[in-house]
Amino acid sequence: MISTRGLIKRYGRVQALRGLDMEVPPRSVYGLIGQNGAGKTTTLRILAGLLLPDAGTAEVAGWDVVRHPRELRRAVGYMPDFFGVYNDLRVGEYLEFYAAAYGLRGPAVARLRDELLELVDLAAKREEFVDTLSRGMQQRLCLARALIHDPEVLLLDEPASGLDPLARVEMREILKELCHLGKTIVISSHILSELADLCTHIGMVVDGRVVRQGTLAEMLAVAQVRNIILRCHGPVAPAEKIVAGWPGAEIISAGEEQMEFRLSGGPEEVAALLAEIVAGGVQVVHFAETESSLEDTFVQLVREARA
Ligand code: ATP
Repeated sequence: MISTRGLIKRYGRVQALRGLDMEVPPRSVYGLIGQNGAGKTTTLRILAGLLLPDAGTAEVAGWDVVRHPRELRRAVGYMPDFFGVYNDLRVGEYLEFYAAAYGLRGPAVARLRDELLELVDLAAKREEFVDTLSRGMQQRLCLARALIHDPEVLLLDEPASGLDPLARVEMREILKELCHLGKTIVISSHILSELADLCTHIGMVVDGRVVRQGTLAEMLAVAQVRNIILRCHGPVAPAEKIVAGWPGAEIISAGEEQMEFRLSGGPEEVAALLAEIVAGGVQVVHFAETESSLEDTFVQLVREARA
């Protein structure tokens, strides 16, 4: 659905993108993760047709970003990381304004406005002034705005930044729903935990290049060392004993019914240890890698890319 090859972008002497290759499958939620200044916003702006690359190619929904800007903008909804909202507009008017900008007219606009407000859970706020909304509500309104022309692809720049935990969960639920509606979504973030439980795919950007991309499972499999949390019904002590004697495992903490440990090795190693614990009579209720596995992979890849 999205494919870039060797994208290069300079701002004066700053080289923001240095040959960025990115592959986003249809109907995926692709998390673009990278540190501040890695090139995420530049990439999204190029994909949205708001910025031209200096070299390289990018195609979104079959449209080349340089040769077909009009078709591209129809296919893409973009939510910037900083957005201005017009203070003297009410929530409903705000969406009507953007609908008009896309050439939508007539009774269908009111229906679309109400459907979108319903989707982002702002139906009750339709007559409120935009500047009286909380940050989380304004983010959701901007998301509704990005959806006004029913784009196939959504490009969201740090959609969860500045949101409190509850607002983050609400945003996540909306994105999941959009994914079920068949949209392809790219989300940028520098916070891994924001992406891990939402994305189907991850691309790691370091200094203007994607240094690794793949499904979430593939990215986790890259991790040489995994952090695993084990919870059981009954005492964890028997499992603790097995883990303590397992080559390549190291206990981080252990309580009554829960423990956390590090394990080196691939997925087969994880499966073998779990089988051993279950065979040892431990009633396992939860056995999962923590997000720090992904974080470790990212730190490792940044170091490798810079070495
Ligand atoms: P952040 O997480 O901080 O938003 P980012 O990964 O989105 O960062 P970009 O905003 O794409 O990164 O910036 C990439 C590089 O290009 C940075 O070094 C940035 O300072 C530089 N840059 C971005 N926009 C401009 C601009 N308009 N003029 C000059 N340099 C710019």
